[in-house]
Amino acid sequence: MKLPKKRRKYCPFCKKYTEHKVIIIKSSKKRGALSLGQRRFKEKLKGYGGYPRPKPEKGAKYGVKTTKKTDIRYECTECKKQHPAKEGKRAKKVELV
Ligand SMILES: [Zn+2]
Repeated sequence: MKLPKKRRKYCPFCKKYTEHKVIIIKSSKKRGALSLGQRRFKEKLKGYGGYPRPKPEKGAKYGVKTTKKTDIRYECTECKKQHPAKEGKRAKKVELV
């Protein structure tokens, strides 16, 4: 999917249509501590009782989608504030043109 670098959009801060820069947010790195669920998962892997979350079998619904939604944000060129796009787009690769 190709996106234009600049787009005229409504800015909720200026309350009018202005030129916006399109920004693709790349997934951020995890912070030091893992989430509670992940800590529990890690703890469970140590003991007996097998793998806590088995991989889905063929035909199972989990993990069907091969693409991820991209986090797209718009930056207003007048007030320099960012606001997110309504919905992320599902695409394998997103480029700015
Ligand atoms: Zn603005």
